[in-house]
Amino acid sequence: MRRLSLLTMKKSAPTNSSGGPPAKKNHWSGGLLASMQDPELKVLEDDDVIVIKDKYPKAKFHYLVMPKKDIPALKHVTKENIDLLEHMEKVGENLTKEHKDHDFIVGYHAVPSMQRLHLHVISTDFNSPCLKTKQHWNSFTTPFFIPSRNVRIQLEKDGRIKLNTEANNKYLLENLKCHKCSKLPKNMPELKRHLLEHLPSEEK
Ligand code: AMP
Ligand code: ZN
Repeated sequence: MRRLSLLTMKKSAPTNSSGGPPAKKNHWSGGLLASMQDPELKVLEDDDVIVIKDKYPKAKFHYLVMPKKDIPALKHVTKENIDLLEHMEKVGENLTKEHKDHDFIVGYHAVPSMQRLHLHVISTDFNSPCLKTKQHWNSFTTPFFIPSRNVRIQLEKDGRIKLNTEANNKYLLENLKCHKCSKLPKNMPELKRHLLEHLPSEEK
């Protein structure tokens, strides 16, 4: 059985499959590797994963579930990693149970900007000052966001995850659209005002 502990109690460095220090730790895209060891951000860990709070959350609750194994991104995932991905998804779903009054989506960005595979677990209020750009919005509300379940299904079927970077990046440029209704906001300030209308009154 896997061990799961609240991370205020346990601190251990992420491992690297090569045994050496994690790659690109000093480059900005390696920032997640440093955050995996930041007690301010770390939420929990077990033998295989570390969960942190996203440093620039795009919603009220935004977590990143990361493997300790040095898997840089979805495109490096193979059939051998199916159990790990399933475990990451379970850990993510368990976290959502701590916020039963919020809806969540659990999945990956098709074209990540940060090193080390990371599963986004994010509440769908998208109520956060860090959500600023059209790209931020579209990265969670278009097919640029790939639900974890779909990743596992494709991995079972094809043994790897096929990703078309050019096609996926086009989703980021799509016109804004509310994820909950037919509203088509003209710009981000209008979208953000509109999102407040979907909040329960106690959170407005
Ligand atoms: P992605 O586009 O899938 O690579 O998402 C990367 C996520 O990491 C974004 O949601 C960022 O807000 C978040 N992020 C960026 N830098 C850090 C950091 N140093 N520590 C924790 N989260 C970060
Ligand atoms: Zn709406």
